[in-house]
Amino acid sequence: MSSNAACIFCKIIKGEIPSFKLFESERVLAFMDIQPLARGHALVIPKTHAAKLLDVPDNELEECMPVAKRIAKAIGANDYNILQNNGRLAHQEVDHVHFHVIPKPDAKQGLQIGWPQQ
Ligand code: IMP
Repeated sequence: MSSNAACIFCKIIKGEIPSFKLFESERVLAFMDIQPLARGHALVIPKTHAAKLLDVPDNELEECMPVAKRIAKAIGANDYNILQNNGRLAHQEVDHVHFHVIPKPDAKQGLQIGWPQQ
């Protein structure tokens, strides 16, 4: 499993940077986003360091979606986004593949997901 010493998410995996962990297995880690776009915004990452989706081993990718599904269920939002950005033009800021799980809060709460517009 490759790691990148300069990568912030690799540092989270190694415990060098604190995170609020939701799930961890041999291949996958899920934790709360530090700047949530909505309450409950979480990230699911494969442990292998890979900047873009095409570089992630299939066996790690295969585990990411069931974890995202479990988080979406645990959060309990009826409506939510699962997002995965590749490259700067696609709004990727952290070059370690990650899936966002972003609940869409009930309209009554008055919260909106502020995803960047193109
Ligand atoms: P991207 O734009 O798809 O690359 O999203 C990167 C996400 O990582 C953003 O939502 C950030 O808030 C989140 N993030 C960056 N650093 C940390 C951290 O140290 N802990 C948790 N989330 C982070």
